[in-house]
Amino acid sequence: MIERPSTIEEIFGTRTDGKQADVDARVTAVAVVAEEATERSVRELVESLRARGVAAAVYDVGPGVVMMSDVRLHEIDELIGSHRAIERFFVADTRYRLARREVRPAGSITRIGGVPFGGERFPIIAGPCAVESRESLIRIASACRERGASVLRGGAYKPRTSPYDFQGLGQHGVEMLAEAREATGMPIVTEVMEPSQIEAMYPLVDAFQVGARNMQNFDLLRALSDIDRPVLLKRGLAATMEEWLLAAEYIMSGGNDQIVLCERGIRTYNSDTRFTLDLATVALAKRETHLPVIVDPSHATGNPKLVIPMACAALAAGADGVMVEVHDDIESSLSDADQALSVEAFERLVERLIPIGVAVGRHVIEGPVRVDGAG
Ligand code: PEP
Ligand code: MN
Repeated sequence: MIERPSTIEEIFGTRTDGKQADVDARVTAVAVVAEEATERSVRELVESLRARGVAAAVYDVGPGVVMMSDVRLHEIDELIGSHRAIERFFVADTRYRLARREVRPAGSITRIGGVPFGGERFPIIAGPCAVESRESLIRIASACRERGASVLRGGAYKPRTSPYDFQGLGQHGVEMLAEAREATGMPIVTEVMEPSQIEAMYPLVDAFQVGARNMQNFDLLRALSDIDRPVLLKRGLAATMEEWLLAAEYIMSGGNDQIVLCERGIRTYNSDTRFTLDLATVALAKRETHLPVIVDPSHATGNPKLVIPMACAALAAGADGVMVEVHDDIESSLSDADQALSVEAFERLVERLIPIGVAVGRHVIEGPVRVDGAG
């Protein structure tokens, strides 16, 4: 468990190793702006800090944050401790700062369409790996919605390992997703692979997905930081938690704090599953960041038989939702056919999740859902 000092008394106090904290150490301090603080009082504070030679910057992430870099530990209290614009502050001893749990101790809620991630709900994102045709997409979307899915997924721009595999329908696929939203009422999330795609996608999508292979595409992260749409940020397949949270930090530091993190398995020596689902890091990330964290057991395992148990484990471990691939004609599916859940298996998944949700205090579905095989 990572414990950090949160008050200046704790910082100045005796450390667990019995030595006194080095009050001359240069640190980064993060101050959370009080909700009732005026813009003017924050601006004045930052100007006064700069006048005293302190490098200070403001980040507009919900309630704002004032970050002071390279400041001496013993100066912090005097500089901002009693300022009325500041609600609280902490020393950021990690490279990610805005994403840290201390910024919003109660956790953040990110809405995709109207669907909240990070609160009591445990929403399910479901749909095909790739958008293949208008008809099949609407069929699969309706089947998932009737069985309890809240958000529709489907790749239009597909990052495929082989250039000879189906590459996706591009913007036509995005348009089909928007039609499926019209038909079913489900908000849509789909992958964006490069900044130039954002403009045409923006009016049509409810959330942009950044795929595992693009988690460190910094131009893409910066471009997404500039817009007011949520970002589903998948963990890179060889990324540490720190790198994952720093990728989120790129989006947040540019002004977009609407982020959902998604663990989708990492590459290990084990080839018995497609990737290795790292649920320990999901539980750790939930402690380290206020951002919602969901799990994609489809890509993590590559095996429909493992998707249900791993989705259940994700819910029990404290994840804020799951994203699964579903197809109603698996034989003809153009990508990731081996890992797709059938509609019947998806129904079983929801049936299994609901009682676990009750046990851990999360609502898996919104209101009564008709589960009668129709659609
Ligand atoms: C996907 O969700 O469609 C996808 C390609 O996943 P990942 O980026 O995690 O491989
Ligand atoms: Mn896929």
